Amino acid sequence: MLLTITTTHTPATDLGYLLVKNPTRVQSFELAFGQAHVFYPEADATRCTVALLLDVDPVGLVRGRGGAGGEGGLLRQYVNDRPYVASSFMSVALASVFKSAMAGQSKERPELAQTPIPLEARLAVLPCRGGDDLLRRLFEPLGYEVTAEPLPLDERRPEQGASPYFTVTLRAACRLADLLTHLYVLIPVLDDEKHYWVGEDELEKLLRRGEGWLPAHPEREMIVRRYLRRRSSLVREAIARLAEGEAAEETEAAPSPEEAVEKAVRLHEQRLAAVVEALKATGARRVLDLGCGEGALLRLLLEDHAFERVVGLDVSYRALENAHDRLRLDRMSPLERERIELLHGALTYRDARLSGYDAAAVVEVIEHLDPARLAAFERVLFECARPGAVVLTTPNAEYNVKWPRLSAGRFRHPDHRFEWSRREFQEWTTAVAARFGYHASVSPVGPEDPEVGAPTQMAVFRMGGAP
Ligand code: SAH
Repeated sequence: MLLTITTTHTPATDLGYLLVKNPTRVQSFELAFGQAHVFYPEADATRCTVALLLDVDPVGLVRGRGGAGGEGGLLRQYVNDRPYVASSFMSVALASVFKSAMAGQSKERPELAQTPIPLEARLAVLPCRGGDDLLRRLFEPLGYEVTAEPLPLDERRPEQGASPYFTVTLRAACRLADLLTHLYVLIPVLDDEKHYWVGEDELEKLLRRGEGWLPAHPEREMIVRRYLRRRSSLVREAIARLAEGEAAEETEAAPSPEEAVEKAVRLHEQRLAAVVEALKATGARRVLDLGCGEGALLRLLLEDHAFERVVGLDVSYRALENAHDRLRLDRMSPLERERIELLHGALTYRDARLSGYDAAAVVEVIEHLDPARLAAFERVLFECARPGAVVLTTPNAEYNVKWPRLSAGRFRHPDHRFEWSRREFQEWTTAVAARFGYHASVSPVGPEDPEVGAPTQMAVFRMGGAP
């Protein structure tokens, strides 16, 4: 499995500085799945090519990882295309062997690392399930000139036709870091067969690596879907967060690369931070997270020992399973494990397990409820569970105009049943608080626009009259 990257920037041998790999030497690196070798087939002042050769050990893969890639049965575990084609192994190798270059860092040539230079990447065998049309749809919007030569199934029997493999050349004038990052994300997308478990870390990685280009990519949904191997809950979260990131970007002046990195505190995180702060301000020790999803808030709550007991509830069993994995409940100490519980249940049915808590968080959940079931939810929460405080967030529908890809009248998420304006949310909050004997206040979360407000709105309900 071979990748070469060529530059004609002069002096071309500066490529060695950018990659922190000396052009006069062959270097080898041990990776979990085999070895990576880096060498330079050509290196002079006008043209320099680096080669990354992967030597994947298919037997070691199976032995070492308890059946990686084993979906197709035993034989397929040993006899498959993995050693020969560019796949997510290539991504893993790129990220470890060219780590600083991918991050856009270079001690010796810091400016060059930030400068677009003529680059050509060639992948000897790229599986492209979806044909070369897919290849173009992925790389051309990023400014690459794409050449793809289909490889025959069998060179000696051309009548058998083409294989799903291509030799691919990508040309662009871009930063080396961008080329490496695009390859890192898009090779597994083309291959569509990732070799390892896709968990939350993968989602974080994708959002981080996709910063600055993925939100605006016309095929972003397909990229996310395939990158995350169609794990639907992760895919939905990724798409929603990309959209929010894009909306947040809109309200800021064009960020420099450093600012873009700092902006990693995305709206999602801001929202969770605001919820944690509001819960803490109520002095709550025993808290519920209703509609906890995959447990992002639960994790923050567990980190803070002000919260003695943390209980997540969700209607989706799948989401709870993922929360269980993401929070690594199996590996917690018994004492920690006692602090947390996950419950399967629906917020539209009375549930005695929810009584006796100081506070409940309901983060981005009510808009998923059928409006006809909203009254049931109100009674289940404020009358039956009746926590001392409720911290509830929902999208501000007015802010949707800041999201250029969202056509008018559409919701942010396909599963949303409604989205409220600021006035609608304020009216609902006031009415619910009055009906159930709570005091409530509403505040914005996220970057505030003078006309349409902030992307998220948050209500804090406290039992009794005074705030
Ligand atoms: N609070 C999480 C997840 C928000 S997505 C976060 O902010 O990241 C909405 C969640 O509400 C989903 O996990 C969905 O399964 C859950 N949900 C939707 N309807 C529900 C209901 N009737 N009862 C309980 N959970 C529900």
